[in-house]
Amino acid sequence: MENPVSAKDEVASLKNQVDNMVERKPFLKETLNAFKELMIAEAELRAQLMTRPAPGMPPPDALRLSAGVPALSDMELAPLFPDLTDGLKTMLAALKRSFPPLKKEAERLAARVAEDPEAPAAWIRLLVRNEEDALKKWADELELEPASFRFALEKSLKPFLQWLAHGVAPHLEQMSWDRGYCPICGAYPDTSYLKKGEEESEYLVAHGGRRWLHCALCSHEWRLHRIVCPYCGNEDADTLEYFSSEESPAERLHVCHTCKKYLPCLDTSELIEVPPADLMPFELLHLDLIAQEKGFSPMAWRHWNQLTS
Ligand SMILES: [Zn+2]
Ligand SMILES: [Zn+2]
Repeated sequence: MENPVSAKDEVASLKNQVDNMVERKPFLKETLNAFKELMIAEAELRAQLMTRPAPGMPPPDALRLSAGVPALSDMELAPLFPDLTDGLKTMLAALKRSFPPLKKEAERLAARVAEDPEAPAAWIRLLVRNEEDALKKWADELELEPASFRFALEKSLKPFLQWLAHGVAPHLEQMSWDRGYCPICGAYPDTSYLKKGEEESEYLVAHGGRRWLHCALCSHEWRLHRIVCPYCGNEDADTLEYFSSEESPAERLHVCHTCKKYLPCLDTSELIEVPPADLMPFELLHLDLIAQEKGFSPMAWRHWNQLTS
């Protein structure tokens, strides 16, 4: 996301990657087809937003950040936004086509946005502050079920969150962050991956690569050391475990026996073709199924990994 690319290029490359994935993993066809249209709308809007100057965001307060407060939760967001109305309506229309069961959610949100152009910025603020009670109040007011209301919000507002993350990420480069949730928006990761560092010696020191976590909400990626559960902070190697199969040793399922959460992980160090991070959750979807069969639950609940609920 560093260089703004044209919407056309971004969409073409996304379609290609999705087609490649369906070819490699035919069992993903149905899931990917459902998500494809939404992902395309997301890529188009994101590319459009990226052609604007990055939002002029002040650096986060280093002390607050070191105390574990994600950057966006302290910021006055509304003045940063362009008009969100049109972009959000497009996203909601795509959401409705991708997920017919969410028709009601998409329509009520779109109607609300038409009436109240301030609502989207307020929703983003509640999401990044994880204000569950306030979100529930909105859901009640719109007569929607809180979980599906939140899912519809997260999916349709994602390009704006990615744009905000793009604006704030440069400030975080020199700041340290050792939490399992996103330093920008506070959401938990949906996937992780191991990547070789630039230096070979560093690779050896890290025993096979650095671990990167991918935020389920704003797509930001951050590093976290490998022997810790991102969800509960458990560092006891005896209660942290990972599984992988002989056929695909690069695909790993990390679980924590303390909090019973799991996180899929892709070891990219030996891979020739590395999927883009936003598609990794799909790449590793079969691991969600295995984890949930074993009684673990995901850190980030997402529509595609709600397999047993
Ligand atoms: Zn995030
Ligand atoms: Zn844990």
